[in-house]
Amino acid sequence: MKQSQLFGSTRRDISKEEVSKNAILLTRGGYIDKEMAGVYTLLPLAFRMAEKIKNIIREELNKLPHTSEVLMPVMQPHQLWEATGRREIIKDVMYDIKDESVGLGPTHEEVATELFSHFYNSYKQMPVAIYQMQTKFRNEPRAKSGLLRGREFMMKDLYSFHLTDEDIADYYLQVKDAYMRIFARVGLNAIYTDASGGVFTKYRSHEFQVLAESGEDEIYLNQLGDRAWNKELVNENDPEFLQFCEGVIDKRSAIEVGNIFRFDNKYSAPLNAAVTNKSGERIDVLGASYGIGITRLIGTIAEVYGDIEKSKINWPKSVAPYKIHLIELGQDLGQDMYNEIVGAIHELPAASDILYDDRDESAGTKFADADLIGAPMRIIISSRTLERESVELNGGLVKLTDLKNKLT
Ligand code: ATP
Ligand code: MG
Repeated sequence: MKQSQLFGSTRRDISKEEVSKNAILLTRGGYIDKEMAGVYTLLPLAFRMAEKIKNIIREELNKLPHTSEVLMPVMQPHQLWEATGRREIIKDVMYDIKDESVGLGPTHEEVATELFSHFYNSYKQMPVAIYQMQTKFRNEPRAKSGLLRGREFMMKDLYSFHLTDEDIADYYLQVKDAYMRIFARVGLNAIYTDASGGVFTKYRSHEFQVLAESGEDEIYLNQLGDRAWNKELVNENDPEFLQFCEGVIDKRSAIEVGNIFRFDNKYSAPLNAAVTNKSGERIDVLGASYGIGITRLIGTIAEVYGDIEKSKINWPKSVAPYKIHLIELGQDLGQDMYNEIVGAIHELPAASDILYDDRDESAGTKFADADLIGAPMRIIISSRTLERESVELNGGLVKLTDLKNKLT
């Protein structure tokens, strides 16, 4: 992609309204544009990241048994929420449509459970799970954290339905493992965290928390730093808690990037999502839901990999909008040279992942922009490097003939 043809640009002067690190860096880098509080356009760079993250999520979730991707409606009837008793709870969060008993979906337990009931009525068809990646709407009172807390944001939500306790417990753990793979693949160290399960279940829920100073959550880490309890669950004198952390209390700020919880028959009972068991009895199915914030992930990765003082990001390769930033210095090189160099690397899987800075700008501007755009690999071509039949790759000279090997 030629940078001169990319929609949008980096920005030096950005609105003073932005206070969060991710929003500042992503706005400066030309990744996002704010429409209003908690509502952003994903410009081409952030859009590409979102697509890469979605593909990683898909690859991992499609490995789960009985699991399919769907797209449920954003518009939901209030009556479904009245049936489950959640209308009152959700009232302040759900954006309602004027003069209609309909609102925009903040989450989809009701719709998913009703959808299930349209197709399933026998134990023979169980278990089953559906997921979607969709824009969600929530009237968040504190939408000041950029992509971390949107009023309109992208979520991956998965709902599973089971006949037995063992089966739901087993699937839950499979999703946990898939989530850990997803977060590792996008470059985040997510900590599996016990959290409260709410009033309808005896089980705890689990969150995937990423340590970050800006995080709104507080978690208590164990000694190895690989498990945590959310503060909401902790009584510092609780023997179980003290055993968990071996008495060494390490309280940290973190960002919740994912959340999984069992709700069992909370929605299936009121929405008549029952199936017959082997003895012909009708049993309310057991359900669980599993969320990942796709746009929140972009914000979290920016918080972790960004540096405000240096105005710089260094994205993990798996999610960078472009893996390679090819920067041409001096306008004398021309299209032939570009073709030759790209020719040398065009057989690589990364070939479509090259952002080519062909703009007529100074070296200083190009480098400052490249710092903000944050591609993990930077190739500089100039008459100086070409005299030696080389390019500069992440700071070191590499012969054109060796470039291909270096990039594989
Ligand atoms: P939080 O506690 O941060 O408000 P939540 O517990 O309400 O989130 P869920 O309803 O479980 O979140 O949503 C699933 C996932 O969606 C969360 O783990 C988070 O990654 C993401 N998410 C939730 N709310 C937002 C939001 N306002 N903006 C961006 N992502 C969000
Ligand atoms: Mg939460």
